[in-house]
Amino acid sequence: MSEAAIADTGFHVERDRLLELVLSSDELPSLPDVASRLLTLMSKEDTELADVASLISQDVALCSKVIKVSNSAFYNFPQQITSIQQAVSVLGTNAVRSLVLSFSFLSLSKPKGATRFDFNTFWQRSLASAVSARLILGQLPGANVEQAFLAGLLQNLGELVLACTVPEKFEAVLEELEKGERNQCEIERELLQLDHARIGYEVSHYWSFPSALSLPILYHHRPDEAQSSDAEIQNYSRALYLSDLLVNILYSEEPQEYHRRFSTEARRIFKFTPDQVEGILENAHLDLDLAAQQFGLDMDKSRSVQDILQEANIRLSLLNLDYEQVNKELVQAKMALEKLARELKEKNEILKDLANVDGLTGAYNNRFFQESLDGELKRASRRNSNVSFILADIDHFKRFNDEHGHLVGDFVLAEFSKVLAANLRQYDVLARYGGEEFAIILPDTSGEDAAFVAEKLRTAVEVSKFRENGVKHSVTASFGVSSVTPEDGKVPDKKALIKAADEALYDAKKAGRNKVAVAGEKRKWFGKK
Ligand code: GH3
Ligand code: MG
Ligand code: MG
Repeated sequence: MSEAAIADTGFHVERDRLLELVLSSDELPSLPDVASRLLTLMSKEDTELADVASLISQDVALCSKVIKVSNSAFYNFPQQITSIQQAVSVLGTNAVRSLVLSFSFLSLSKPKGATRFDFNTFWQRSLASAVSARLILGQLPGANVEQAFLAGLLQNLGELVLACTVPEKFEAVLEELEKGERNQCEIERELLQLDHARIGYEVSHYWSFPSALSLPILYHHRPDEAQSSDAEIQNYSRALYLSDLLVNILYSEEPQEYHRRFSTEARRIFKFTPDQVEGILENAHLDLDLAAQQFGLDMDKSRSVQDILQEANIRLSLLNLDYEQVNKELVQAKMALEKLARELKEKNEILKDLANVDGLTGAYNNRFFQESLDGELKRASRRNSNVSFILADIDHFKRFNDEHGHLVGDFVLAEFSKVLAANLRQYDVLARYGGEEFAIILPDTSGEDAAFVAEKLRTAVEVSKFRENGVKHSVTASFGVSSVTPEDGKVPDKKALIKAADEALYDAKKAGRNKVAVAGEKRKWFGKK
């Protein structure tokens, strides 16, 4: 015997020993009685619907579960199914068998040994495999989708069996797998001489599964080796291989990688169109939730493939940013934020101003004028400074409106306001007091200085020509000036100040208009005689 042959024999011996250990273990899960009898029954050629129905009828709990699922949204039968006989004849023996076996497997008990083996996660992934296999084979005309479901559910049966029968050995496999360096089958073949696909196959064979179920379990990681088998087994093996990739989109740490592989392999193996691939991916999580509900598996609502990929993309893009880039982006974001805050502040100020401004003339409105005058008078009392006040009124404006029309009047009013504003200091307050009358607050200004300001304004108005539609217009205005100096730190009387200016204005009008009159004991007059 050559050295290689001896080594090979040694390998076989060890492998057979493990198989024996597994199959003879007291911990090997046993099938419920109904399930194993059903498998025997179905392997016979002359099995009739009635035989299947009467066998299942013996297990009342199982019957009610099968009937409940038969009536669920998945099958969507128009009539209510009320007996197992009816279920068998409507769904067919294959579908009912798959349901019975699925329930049977899902009721297997939890392995005792391997602590790294998560029983709930195992069934969750198995159920995801089952619905994926059903979705994938559902694309092929005439495929037995119920059997695809069952095959998907059981494709990793070997893992459960290993966890039950050789817990320490399987624990070592899972420990190695957690390092994330090699794939599971590779590790299993090195540490156990057999992978879970082979174990699953051997156990299902031992349980008298039909080869249409057991062989796809054997080939689910290497579907190309199923080529010598018949077309049905080939298709199941391929569907299980693809369903494993799909499950990894849902549960692995690398959803994008598995998404890429699933899409390419589905197109290569079954010549699926992109639309078919999309359809499978879109429905996987929905079908999974429905199946979990039907089989009473307690699990969180599944996330869609789209959501999972989107999240992975975001995570990846964040990973790709190095510190400097993140810093740069943060600085840019902060700058943009500050710019926005500045603009907002400016806009708010404009808005606030707008609320204080007269729409036609752009001067402040009466409300703002009143508040400003209050403020200025208080300030003057604190600082013991003068406040002067001017009331300006356009002469014979009623006549002007009558001659030229109200619209031209509006235009002249606005231009008049501009002339006044152009001849005032920045901190003087020009307001539209009402109609064609304007009020001007001159902080820190003596009566005498205010009279000169008023005269300057009067002259500026007199010489201004307001051009509208090729026609030049001009107006004159009269001005009343008043002034106050706080006494003993008291806030001067606002009404008295306004009244004095109003009276002076009346005097200016009476004196022939286009004049400035100053309130006070000795009246001073400006303007043309
Ligand atoms: P006086 O020289 O005595 O001030 O004569 P007046 O005609 O200007 O004075 P009166 O108070 O009799 O009339 C004021 C006119 O001002 C009446 C109105 O047609 C005009 N007026 C007031 N507000 C506006 C306005 O917003 N737009 C226009 N176009 N005219 C206005
Ligand atoms: Mg008037
Ligand atoms: Mg007037």
